[in-house]
Amino acid sequence: MSPLRPESVVISVGRPAPVAHAPLSVPIMLTAPYRHAPDDNHYSRQLPTETVTAFEDALATLEGGHAIAFSSGMGGASAIIEAQHSGTIAVVPNAGYSGTLMQFAKQQELGRMTLRSVEIGDTGAVLAALRGADLLWLETMTNPMLDVPELDVLIPAAHEAGVDVCVDSTFTTPLGVRPLALGADVVLHSVTKYLGGHSDLLMGVLVTRSAELAECLRERRALTGAIPGSLEAYLALRGVRTLALRWERAQANAGDLAERLAAHPGVRAVHYPGRPSDPFHERATRLFTGYGAMICFEVAGDAPAAERVCDAVRLITHATSLGGVESLIERRARHEVDADFGTPETLLRFSVGIEHVEDLWSDLEQALAQL
Ligand SMILES: *Cc1c(COP(=O)(O)O)cnc(C)c1O
Repeated sequence: MSPLRPESVVISVGRPAPVAHAPLSVPIMLTAPYRHAPDDNHYSRQLPTETVTAFEDALATLEGGHAIAFSSGMGGASAIIEAQHSGTIAVVPNAGYSGTLMQFAKQQELGRMTLRSVEIGDTGAVLAALRGADLLWLETMTNPMLDVPELDVLIPAAHEAGVDVCVDSTFTTPLGVRPLALGADVVLHSVTKYLGGHSDLLMGVLVTRSAELAECLRERRALTGAIPGSLEAYLALRGVRTLALRWERAQANAGDLAERLAAHPGVRAVHYPGRPSDPFHERATRLFTGYGAMICFEVAGDAPAAERVCDAVRLITHATSLGGVESLIERRARHEVDADFGTPETLLRFSVGIEHVEDLWSDLEQALAQL
């Protein structure tokens, strides 16, 4: 049989061996210790349950590497960031996911790391910062401005300069791009978002190209106790089953709504790489299979006006986070870190869900009427 397409992989991976009377789905195994054999010491902080490894097998197949699941996306990020030797020089986005940026900033504050903050959509700026660096941190689409870094140029250049590359691919999912195939050393997903897909769990995952790095990360996970619970792993794997369908519908909704928002008199600017006029359209077309389901738009008026839009939505929910079946919206500059790195004060980050597109548009239209 030829290799399965991703739509079939999400259905078939992470299942018990296909033998008679085996269950179709992996059981939710709830235990902390395992009974001793003569010379072992198994405890589920070190030895993940079969529910967790089933999820890891799924992600390993989807990304093409070795997967290590974590209790949250930030748990995965810190396994990489805090494992850097002291004196590490890291090239990081000057605007990106706030949790990651805060964690890097903390390392610098503690005197363990030097940061070179760059606009990662600007290839020349990133290339210039690589010399003598140790780690390059990229987001496939930056939070919240949706800038797209030139992965296929930056990753080989980083390796040439002896710099390791970690790519946070949360906004693109394993179906949008496979950073390991582009040469990245590690890919990170906040499973909390599209992979889980139902806004009901916190989990993260790292997938590495090298088995050796995966082993180091497993050790760090055991030491720091950042392993997910089996209930979360079960829910996340159940979410993965419908990823392809959810992703297709959410992206289609986003493509449609981005155009309608751009034509609305209450909207000053739309950031969405799927629009041909977007500065990152050509890059996203080259690198990704689609344009994602996040739209950021700036409304006409001031911050209170933008907050009124968030208060007025009915079908869409005013909440942080993203990637679930439910559409969510928030004004990102309400978070101090985001405001500090210059997020426009009327910018709304809109995570497009899988509701009917006409209902989403009616909701946006009535909310924008509050401006
Ligand atoms: C949410 C998010 C994270 C952190 O994940 P948690 O599961 O919330 O810890 C990291 N990166 C990006 C891009 C995210 O959106």
